[in-house]
Amino acid sequence: MEHHEVLIVGGGNAGISLGARLLRDGIRDVTIVAPQPVHRYKPLLNYVGGGQATMADLERPMRDVVPEGCGWVRDAVETVDPAAMTVRTRGGPLLHCSTLVLCPGLEEDWAATPGLQRAYADGWAASTYVPGSAPQVWPRLTSLTSGSVVFTVPPEPASCGPTALKPLFMACDHWRRTGVLPDLDVCLLLPEPTATGVPAADEVLERAFADFGVEVLREARMERVDWDVHALTVATPTGRRVLEDVAFAHAVPHYRAPNWIADAGLADPAGLVGIDPHTLRSRRHESIWAIGDAAAVATRPSGGGLRRQVDVLAQNIPAARDGRPLQRYDGYTVMPITVSRRELMLVEVDRDGRPTPSVPLVDLVEPRRATWFADRYVLPRIYWRRLLRGRV
Ligand SMILES: Cc1cc2nc3c(=O)[nH]c(=O)nc-3n(C[C@H](O)[C@H](O)[C@H](O)COP(=O)(O)OP(=O)(O)OC[C@H]3O[C@@H](n4cnc5c(N)ncnc54)[C@H](O)[C@@H]3O)c2cc1C
Repeated sequence: MEHHEVLIVGGGNAGISLGARLLRDGIRDVTIVAPQPVHRYKPLLNYVGGGQATMADLERPMRDVVPEGCGWVRDAVETVDPAAMTVRTRGGPLLHCSTLVLCPGLEEDWAATPGLQRAYADGWAASTYVPGSAPQVWPRLTSLTSGSVVFTVPPEPASCGPTALKPLFMACDHWRRTGVLPDLDVCLLLPEPTATGVPAADEVLERAFADFGVEVLREARMERVDWDVHALTVATPTGRRVLEDVAFAHAVPHYRAPNWIADAGLADPAGLVGIDPHTLRSRRHESIWAIGDAAAVATRPSGGGLRRQVDVLAQNIPAARDGRPLQRYDGYTVMPITVSRRELMLVEVDRDGRPTPSVPLVDLVEPRRATWFADRYVLPRIYWRRLLRGRV
């Protein structure tokens, strides 16, 4: 049986940046288990859906992002035995480790919305959250000149859900410029009463919804999709509503954590890896940790939040081994939302919803062109050149 000092499950934002950071900090034997051949910088998917980026801008071969000196098992984990500290992969050997970090992200829960997967295959629905369909979003949106179009924000657990508003606003801005906005009925499904739960940000977003004439269905859940007649059934607090004759649906699937987490007895009631959200350590096994979208970090998951999580966990793994006090993650997270083609608001809060701005003296919640530029062009460079290389 192969043994590793640190075994990381998942080669996304969390797994690669943590692996790189641990190696940089002097841990020698770090191995990542990740099946996919391609690594994606997901925040740019929304810019693909807004006609401002291509898939080539956000994809790199995995072999180029796995840190130098890091082991890479090109396989998917199927089971975890926490007591034995082993994981079994789909096709490979049994792997044993001293420290296990789980960061497999979330997966689409197609079964939660009957008909939706078929609607994607049909091309009537697509979204920036499903990479294979993201390139269809902007051509489909910009081909519309009249009729009804629906956008959804996914319910939790979801990966930085409010960023699903980006394609909506970029499309509305485009439709206004081309003069067709008055002929389109734009409907938005929000899972909560407001878009972010942060009053200052919601105020800006409510103004933008009103300005573009977007009808907002609140606490709304996409129940089923009848792709053949282009209809969506939505559950709302006041009853069920059927949206008919929808020309295109930017319908984001619901998400869930992989089932093997619960099968291993490591899940919280929502199916995420049950951890102490401050120390990021499993509540049940002291040598198991989790970060990223699949971890119960008790805050909205985001790539921005991961920067802090990686920093805390990289310190806590050796601290736990040496019996030193553990660092604490304050739940910092970000929600970058474009409110037009060239303006973005950046919402930064901690676990209690308190504003935690990263830049002093500038109100980044106020939509700005400079913030859009940073989100579209500067952050991707920082991601590839610094974050994935463990320089957090
Ligand atoms: C459309 C979209 C836009 C976003 N925009 C922003 C933004 O603007 N700003 C921001 O801060 N955040 C944004 N996010 C959120 C951010 O991208 C995520 O929080 C981040 O990618 C989470 O990283 P992760 O490593 O936990 O999960 P992922 O990036 O999903 O990576 C998980 C990896 O684990 C692998 N895996 C899965 N199952 C297994 C298994 N059984 N065995 C081994 N490996 C497995 C997967 O193949 C995947 O590569 C966005 C997310 C999406 C989807």
